[in-house]
Amino acid sequence: MSAFATVADGVHAVRVPMPAGGLPDSLAYLIEDDRGRVHIVDPGSPTDEAGGALLAALDALGRGPSDVAAIVVTHLHTDHAGGATALRSLSGAPVLMHEREAAAAVKLSHGLPAPDLDGWGVPADRRPELLAAVRAPIAPGAVPADVLLTDGDLLDIPGRRIRVLWTPGHTPGHLCLHDEEAGLLFTGDHVLPTVNPGLGLGGPTDTNPIADYLAALDRIAGFDALALPGHEQPFTGLAERCAALAEHHLRRAREVAAHPGGTVWEVASTLTWTGGWEALRGFTLLSALSQTALHRDFVART
Ligand SMILES: [Zn+2]
Repeated sequence: MSAFATVADGVHAVRVPMPAGGLPDSLAYLIEDDRGRVHIVDPGSPTDEAGGALLAALDALGRGPSDVAAIVVTHLHTDHAGGATALRSLSGAPVLMHEREAAAAVKLSHGLPAPDLDGWGVPADRRPELLAAVRAPIAPGAVPADVLLTDGDLLDIPGRRIRVLWTPGHTPGHLCLHDEEAGLLFTGDHVLPTVNPGLGLGGPTDTNPIADYLAALDRIAGFDALALPGHEQPFTGLAERCAALAEHHLRRAREVAAHPGGTVWEVASTLTWTGGWEALRGFTLLSALSQTALHRDFVART
């Protein structure tokens, strides 16, 4: 897919550059309504480069910021919602997100809560990088939302029927958007075509994010829709992709269950990680340990 592509009638995907260090870009979507206005899903990172990509896409449609009717974010992470505040200032359009995500974003605006490094068995020399990682805000620019969404809501997009689906797991209030007539599913980071999304990356919850995620995969697996994800490229075959993601987590749960006595640190060091355990540093190390702790909790609850 190039930098700007029409993926369905009146729906356009835009590659929005991300700061170096992770994935190269996120995908924003521009949805035209039948009154000539544009609704934007996931504006992207809070950088001039990202904002420039969005403005160029609007320009390619012969539109400008004043034609933006609404900004919907699938979840609070800065690579999806970070640009919302600047776009709201420029356009006057409201920012919409799931009510649970809005609550999580407020809690996370100063970073993640400190993990239980003693309980996890983290060696002393690896603690400073983990403490630094939790202090880095993961949701800058995401608050406050103007409109709170809930499961089953229909977005106010004249000429379209786009329904909100609450799909927790990646974050507590992640949402997908289902265009029921056009057969499109905007999946955010719930389901990506090849990347396995990390889970529980929106702060602590009372429920287990792995269990939430598996249930939310089940909800969408049966959709006969073109998937429009938050990264990579649009894809078909949701059922197969959801099954593969579920199997990844169930396999990981079995691996964790095979080491019942070890600490989170010890268990994580025995698991397979993209790039290898030894290479994990800072936020990626924190994420690996958090995922291991979540899988362990999932095993204990089931
Ligand atoms: Zn993302």
